[in-house]
Amino acid sequence: MNGQIPLIPGDGSPAPADPRPPVSVSWNLWHGCTRVSPGCAHCYMFRRDEAIGGDPATVRRTRAFDLPVRVLRSSAYAGLTKIPRGSVFYTCFSSDFFHRDADQWRAEAWDMIRERADCSFFMITKRPERIAEHLPPDWGDGWDHVTVAVTCENQAMAEKRLPVYLHLPLKRRAVMIEPMLSAVSLAPFFDAYPGAIASVSVGGESGPDARPCDFAWVLDVRRACAARGVAFSYHQTGALLYKDGRAYRVPRALQHAQARKAGLDIAGDGLPADIPGE
Ligand code: SF4
Repeated sequence: MNGQIPLIPGDGSPAPADPRPPVSVSWNLWHGCTRVSPGCAHCYMFRRDEAIGGDPATVRRTRAFDLPVRVLRSSAYAGLTKIPRGSVFYTCFSSDFFHRDADQWRAEAWDMIRERADCSFFMITKRPERIAEHLPPDWGDGWDHVTVAVTCENQAMAEKRLPVYLHLPLKRRAVMIEPMLSAVSLAPFFDAYPGAIASVSVGGESGPDARPCDFAWVLDVRRACAARGVAFSYHQTGALLYKDGRAYRVPRALQHAQARKAGLDIAGDGLPADIPGE
């Protein structure tokens, strides 16, 4: 761990009691990315950065880098970590945890994640081929408090990424199909790697140039999950939904609510329900 980061006291004394409830927080420890596949075409991080004259393709460490290990210096909770125990960190929603331009900072990030084993960490990548070479030395067959999810926006990406992803030493696996750009057949992967995928989340694309998501594709994935007891979540409809041969424009404010209203979710020990969306 880099000496600049204030650590949780580790002198062997018992941790002070923490009456605060757990929270869910976004932890964008680096920001910026480069496009790797069709799902990136309308990346909301690019859209937002370009709108304010920023440079989304330069990956830079953020001021929130040390968030998990920040310790409160004043207030009634002085001496406790800023983020309470039991909390969930949603990591890298404005970059990719395994982006090569973040290689210089990742070891330090793993150190913080290891140190906060009292919390859960959730990260999503489109670069599973980089994971094996960039795990911490004591990773073993995975850490219980870390979920690494992979995104497969279409069948081609599922066929490219899942065989790599499903061979990785991960304790908790989840597949995200968002933005869903085509039908995706997961059944062969479920059958080839029984029990390996804990949960699947699907969602359409939002934004002004959103590509369509066909409700029939969503139902197909759900059927495959239901048949094998895999948790399923319909995260959002996207802005352009095809259903029964008709196209629907769904306002941004309703995309999550409409998906929930469809009542398709299958509960399970998988993806958290409150994954941040754009
Ligand atoms: S990997 Fe994610 S953050 Fe990076 S360009 Fe693609 S959609 Fe954007």
